[in-house]
Amino acid sequence: MLGRLPNFKALEKRNIPVASNMCPFCGEVKETVEHVMVSCGLAQYTWSVLAQWCKMPTPFLFSFRDVLELHKFSRFEKEKADVIHAVCLIVAWCLWKKRNALVCKGIPTQVAGLVEEIKVLSFLWIKHRGRKNWRRFNV
Ligand SMILES: [Zn+2]
Repeated sequence: MLGRLPNFKALEKRNIPVASNMCPFCGEVKETVEHVMVSCGLAQYTWSVLAQWCKMPTPFLFSFRDVLELHKFSRFEKEKADVIHAVCLIVAWCLWKKRNALVCKGIPTQVAGLVEEIKVLSFLWIKHRGRKNWRRFNV
């Protein structure tokens, strides 16, 4: 949100040459944080699947700020809203990690693998780092 992720647009702005400034996932538009996290087809599909997993309607996201503030408008009790917020952060983390794996190492992103990784990390991080009772959230 502070514009500090070194995506292609940010690198170009700092006069750092890049081979291509297009989204590494779809190759259809210039890469921005908003595109990779929100509007890219991969991101939209991921948000849709994970919303279903969290038993909430598919969110209408227009910016990365919407991702970070989704839990505020979810109408869930505070503890479940905290879990939703954690899942959103994990989605952003995993999308950025997959983007870097593709850009830096040429490792293609498999959607099913991405979704499973997000679910596993969500379970592990929320259960063990957040000291929350996972079963209470009905996720
Ligand atoms: Zn894209």
